[in-house]
Amino acid sequence: MFTKRTIMATMTGLVTLASTLMAQAPQQRPLSPAERQDLLYMREEEKLARDVYLAMLERWEVRIFENISQSEQRHMDALGGLIERYGLTDPVTDITPGVFTNPDLAALYDELVARGSASLAEALQVGAFIEDLDIVDLREAMLRSRHTDITQAYDDLESGSCNHLRAFVRQITNLGGTYTPEFLTLAEYEAILNGTEAGSGQRKANAERAACDGACRRQLCGQGRGCARKARK
Ligand code: ZN
Ligand code: ZN
Repeated sequence: MFTKRTIMATMTGLVTLASTLMAQAPQQRPLSPAERQDLLYMREEEKLARDVYLAMLERWEVRIFENISQSEQRHMDALGGLIERYGLTDPVTDITPGVFTNPDLAALYDELVARGSASLAEALQVGAFIEDLDIVDLREAMLRSRHTDITQAYDDLESGSCNHLRAFVRQITNLGGTYTPEFLTLAEYEAILNGTEAGSGQRKANAERAACDGACRRQLCGQGRGCARKARK
């Protein structure tokens, strides 16, 4: 039999349940296929960085590979936490260095370790190459992300990668070498070296503006977020 107290208790319970669901709702929206793919890929790309640096540390015993491999471990962990939060299956099933679910990353690991084992100068080039690739992949994933917690994590990893790139390039320069970016444009690369790279907000605004200009040319103005803003001007 329902007493007034039971009904009140049930209602309080429902209100608590509803507010819990509402509090979780913004982050629990499911990921789009592209967001899911990016997160799983980036998790293994961070492992690639960690594993190659661990191999270079063993081969050359220089501090830079020790410090940066520890930082890559933190990057891996951050993405592992997000994979868990969104209930995805972690592609890192084996933490052993050099073991990957993605065959392309497994092949790239072998190639980069072989290259970096030839000389310390080559090992530093490999470091800069990995960071160059990582920054571009993170920036692209950030543009596709529609979840603020994931965008924020990519943004943190990207600033870490810029620090790593600067550290590798500094050592390459000390040995009398130079690094030529393979993924970043020369302008983006120089901005990073000078510490004047655009923040993610600025890059996102630029990307939206470019998408908007394209949409306007195709007579779709007003249909996208960026376009709506432009249409108001
Ligand atoms: Zn990283
Ligand atoms: Zn890095």
